[in-house]
Parts: sequence; C-alpha cells; structure tokens
Amino acid sequence: MREIRTSGSEGGEAELNRPSLPLSGLHTLFIFRSLAPGYSDRRSFSGSMAVEEKQVAKGDEPQDCRSCEQADCTSRNRRQDESEEEFRQRQDLGRKMCQIGHKLLILSGKGGVGKSTVAANLAVSLALAGKSVGLLDVDIHGPSIPRLMGLEGQQLQMHGSEIVPLEVGGNLKVMSIGFLLGSPEDAVIWRGPMKYGVIRQFLGEVEWGPLDYLIIDAPPGTGDEPLSVAQLVGDGAGAVLVTTPQELSVADVRRSVSFCRKLSLPVVGIIENMSGLVCPHCNGRIEVFKTGGGEALAHEMNVPLLGRIPIDPKIVECGDSGVPYIHRFADSDAATAFAGVVDRILGGTASNTDG
Ligand code: ADP
Repeated sequence: MREIRTSGSEGGEAELNRPSLPLSGLHTLFIFRSLAPGYSDRRSFSGSMAVEEKQVAKGDEPQDCRSCEQADCTSRNRRQDESEEEFRQRQDLGRKMCQIGHKLLILSGKGGVGKSTVAANLAVSLALAGKSVGLLDVDIHGPSIPRLMGLEGQQLQMHGSEIVPLEVGGNLKVMSIGFLLGSPEDAVIWRGPMKYGVIRQFLGEVEWGPLDYLIIDAPPGTGDEPLSVAQLVGDGAGAVLVTTPQELSVADVRRSVSFCRKLSLPVVGIIENMSGLVCPHCNGRIEVFKTGGGEALAHEMNVPLLGRIPIDPKIVECGDSGVPYIHRFADSDAATAFAGVVDRILGGTASNTDG
C-alpha cells in the first residue's frame, strides 16, 4: 500500500512535489481568463484577488486535436459559431479530458451532508489502491478540500502556461479554488459566466496528466457549477450522489438524480452518509438522521446504493486536522463501509477503461 502523507496534525511532514518554477500573477491569470466572452463586469470578484488586465499568450495557431484517433471526436473540427480562441480552448480541454479514464462528480442535494468528506476520502482510497487520481474542488463558495487534505496555505506553481496541482503521495493531484484565495475567510462572489470560465480552466488548464480517476467535488444543488462541470467533462463521466438518510436531504437528491438524467450523466450510485451512530458508551445504535432514506431512494430511482457510512466523530476530527480518515482509521466501521463503496465504484467503473 502506498503511503499518503499530508501536513495534518498527526505529525506527518507534507509530502508535496513542487515544480521549480515559481508562480507569479496566478490570480490575475485565472481572473482574466475566467471572464466568459463578452462578459465585462469585474466588480464582483473577491477583494483579495486583484484584477489586472493581462493578455495571456497561448500557442500560435489552433492545431488539430491529435490526442486520439476517433474520427467522431467533437474536438477535431471548429464549430461554425466558435471563434479560433474558443476552438483552441475546447481542444485543450478535450485533450486533457481524453487522458482521464473516469470522471466522478460528487454531488449532493444540500450542503453539510458529507459530500466533500466523501470526495476527499474517495480520492485517497483510490490512490491507495494504486490508481492515479486527481481531486478537483469546484465548490467555489465553500472549498473545503484544502483543509480536509491538510493543504491549507499551500502555494500553486505554474509550468509553462499550465497550473500545477499539488501532489500528495505521488499519485494524487489536488486542485481547489481554495488555493487561490488569500485566506480561508475570503468570500468569492462570482456570477455564472465567471464560474463557468474558472471551472473550464480548472479542467483544461491544470496539468492533470493521464489519470485513472478525476474526483470532482461540486457545490451542492443543481446550479451553475455542477451544470458547468457536467457539460465540460465530456465522455467517461458519472455522478456519485451523497445524502443523509433524512427525508429533507433525500428529497434534494431526488432532484439531483433528475438533473443527471436531463444531462445524460450516468448516476454511478448513491451514498447514504451519516447513517446511524454506534454509541461509544453502550454500543447501542442511534439513528441520528433516521435510516434507510438513501437506500429507499436508490430503489425508487433505480440506481445503485453504493453504501451506508455511519457517523463517526473521528471523521470530524480528521477533517478539521487535515488527515484523511480512511487512511488514519482504516479498521473503523465507517472506513470499512467506505471501502465497500470504493470496491463498488472500482467494480462499476472498471469495465469502461481499465484493462
Ligand atoms: P458537504 O461537503 O456536504 O458540505 P462536509 O464533507 O463538509 O459536507 O461535511 C460536513 C461536516 O460533517 C464536516 O464537519 C464533516 O467532518 C462531517 N461529517 C461528514 N461525514 C461524516 C460522518 N460520516 N460522520 C461524522 N461526521 C461526518
């Protein structure tokens, strides 16, 4: 098993591979490019991200996308309604996405149900299973992946015109809007086109390289960001829906299933998180958020139930201290439940690209 070490409170030294080129003006680069064509209102950016106009040169002429031999690849030819710049960006994105076997969008109907926790632990589990993994946090309004992975305060670097994600343990690459904010308290107030632009950059202008899995932590709900990701990732994408068992959360996930179906995004399955708590004193089971809601929804919507993860206070401790729970408490009930989820995901996605 490979070792994943982050800079959490458990004493592990950060094990991050940093490229040698320092990054200057990254905020500027992101902000400038995140403006969608025709969009000119820049007042809504967060205060810490100074806005400078700076043209970013990128290559010369648009090239044929030669990353695959597929004659029907939509990136081969420029669309009639597309400028050369837009075509080039689409090709860049297509080239990147073609190198990624599976893209899993982690979605939830509402916040606080454990979506980011699931995303982080899923990414770590897959990395521990020997897969090359990317973890992308597009939860623009509440990026928690830097904290969960013990990467808060880390600086990003650039390699040529691409942003280099932070590396953990050799086969896990992490990218989050949180790395671009001045401080964890900074708020991001962006309108739809800006979010779309930033998400496109996160997918197309980050040096992901070939990956087995890209785990994408999307904001809750069915708004701009999940929509943007679903539209941009291309083939090989699927959604993992996270809910607590209670009806309030389940009702929102029902909407998420419909959202996926409208976008023809396959639902890999539902995870029922915070599914019961074993009392540490009497070993009795307490159904804090009721039980079985995710399972019932999976049945009703005819999608797989990937697993039921119980409440474990150590998940909160690990999240706060930046230590991947699945690695730190590998023998716990929740980690065992999580391992079942990962097995089902590996089994369900293996047939597409794995040998
Ligand atoms: P979301 O991304 O859906 O907003 P988070 O992953 O940030 O949710 O989790 C919300 C809170 O719940 C965090 O404090 C996290 O540590 C905690 N949490 C998530 N799953 C569990 C669980 N199974 N047991 C105990 N706490 C959990």
